[in-house]
Amino acid sequence: MIYYSLNKNSENTSFKDAVVKGLAPDKGLYFPESITPLPKSFFDNIDNLSYSEIAFEAIKQFVSPEIPENVLKTIVEETLSFDFPVVQLNDNISTLELFHGPTMAFKDVGARFMARCLGYFNKENTNEVTVLVATSGDTGGAVANGFLGVKGVNVVILYPSGKVSDIQEMQLTTLGQNIKALEVDGTFDDCQAMVKTAFLDESLTSKMQLTSANSINVARWLPQLFYFMFAYKQLHNKHENIVFSVPSGNFGNVCAGMMAQQLGLPIKHFIASNNENNVVTRYLQSETYEPKPSVQTISNAMDVGAPSNFIRIQEIYKNNFEGLKENLSSYSFSDNETREAMLEIFNDCNYVADPHGAVGYLGSKAYLKENPNAHCVFLETAHPTKFLDVVEEVIKEKQPLPEQIQSVMGGKKVAISIATYEDLKGFLLN
Ligand SMILES: *Cc1c(COP(=O)(O)O)cnc(C)c1O
Repeated sequence: MIYYSLNKNSENTSFKDAVVKGLAPDKGLYFPESITPLPKSFFDNIDNLSYSEIAFEAIKQFVSPEIPENVLKTIVEETLSFDFPVVQLNDNISTLELFHGPTMAFKDVGARFMARCLGYFNKENTNEVTVLVATSGDTGGAVANGFLGVKGVNVVILYPSGKVSDIQEMQLTTLGQNIKALEVDGTFDDCQAMVKTAFLDESLTSKMQLTSANSINVARWLPQLFYFMFAYKQLHNKHENIVFSVPSGNFGNVCAGMMAQQLGLPIKHFIASNNENNVVTRYLQSETYEPKPSVQTISNAMDVGAPSNFIRIQEIYKNNFEGLKENLSSYSFSDNETREAMLEIFNDCNYVADPHGAVGYLGSKAYLKENPNAHCVFLETAHPTKFLDVVEEVIKEKQPLPEQIQSVMGGKKVAISIATYEDLKGFLLN
């Protein structure tokens, strides 16, 4: 597949180059040159396909010919070695659980897929790649876990000190080997700004190959389209008018859902559910796009003021505002509303949701008010015990810790404290 830069000021490139570079030289996000819908028979026959078979068919065009089919089969099978169950909560609302991977957030799939692609490309190549990534909580752990031990790849994770949950911090600071954690005296926005400065700093990029493992990287972003197909497989015989409510921060996940739709998945509508970081909710109301600095909330993985993937969504809908509005609704909720929703889901449906999933649930309810015939599926993007303090305080019940969480609890935190870009640069050049 050929990829072009959305800033339209760089050469087109291959999948391999798009993955290794992360961002185009003109700092634009890469986007595939064409999207060929899958045949109708694929969707008619989806009941007879395994998750790996679905994923293989769906992603093939985006990664070939650089990743040969036999290699892709293995990558997909290794990436998807856990379950993606749909749980129905009531007649109109289901949840798709995306937290059964090793770090218990949906980012595991993208991180594992990308790590394996980079690992494959590095077999032929002796240059080391440094993956530099800023995290608001879950990306760090998923990337650390996904890239652990991958030859020729060093991973440097920046996280905001005191602003990630204890479990998130353990997941990204305890692994060692090729994974280094930098604890930044600042916010997530500060971390992201430092990473962007590094990509722009030629005195650094001339000395090392830097890439990103945020959803701007096509190998992290595109595999997320699998989820929507997996949910469709489980639900299409039971419900019509399936609508996805996606708790959104950088808008990579919901944008991947739209790519599944472009591939022919018969889904009519998406809901971008936001916390108070709601630039897209406001845009759909006013048609003015006005990013703001992020504010801290209890759904911290969505505390993004300027969502990097929104430009890809604009590209999918060819910058047509009306076309976008037909396909996408967006709502925004406060922390108090989110806590109330967590309690409601617990009391009414006997289900424990994490704060991000609860925002998705609220988005579903808001949409159903005007569209009572829809069946809304909200993505449960992280396991509730990743946010133990909030969850136990709200539902007033102790939660058992899953094995994946227990296994990081006793680990030894290793992180280097930094405060400025110069600190980061000094670290990278050392
Ligand atoms: C990253 C994340 C999100 C937001 O996903 P985007 O693709 O950035 O919109 C939502 N919930 C959780 C738990 C996350 O980790």
